[in-house]
Amino acid sequence: MAMRTDFFCPKCNNILNVGENVVFSTKNKRRKEGLVLLHPDVGNYSLVKHPSFEIEDGEMLDFLCPYCGEILKSDKHENLAKILMRDEKGNEGEVHFSRVAGQQSTYKIIGQNMEIFGKDASDYYDFLSQNYF
Ligand SMILES: [Zn+2]
Repeated sequence: MAMRTDFFCPKCNNILNVGENVVFSTKNKRRKEGLVLLHPDVGNYSLVKHPSFEIEDGEMLDFLCPYCGEILKSDKHENLAKILMRDEKGNEGEVHFSRVAGQQSTYKIIGQNMEIFGKDASDYYDFLSQNYF
């Protein structure tokens, strides 16, 4: 079992974890809204949603904070969302992940250290790494 990590909204700082989920309000490109639960282990791409909320492969979702409604956009690339994290050792950082359905690109940044996850991580690697080297 991976370390326990909490995730936060960058705007209101409320915790996005509930049990073994990280909860987001999302909007698809047809402007339909749905709650989406992602796995708290970074690099695990399981996703839980109601079957009536349809997400097409390759479509871009807006991820919003379920508390304050802030659109969770990365400052590194428009296709990425960003949330804050704190692991059980108290290390604080950022997680950037792809907003494109089916694309597995995740970047965990703590200080000057970046970890990458997912089969598509190379897609945005240059955008993430240029500020760190
Ligand atoms: Zn918020």
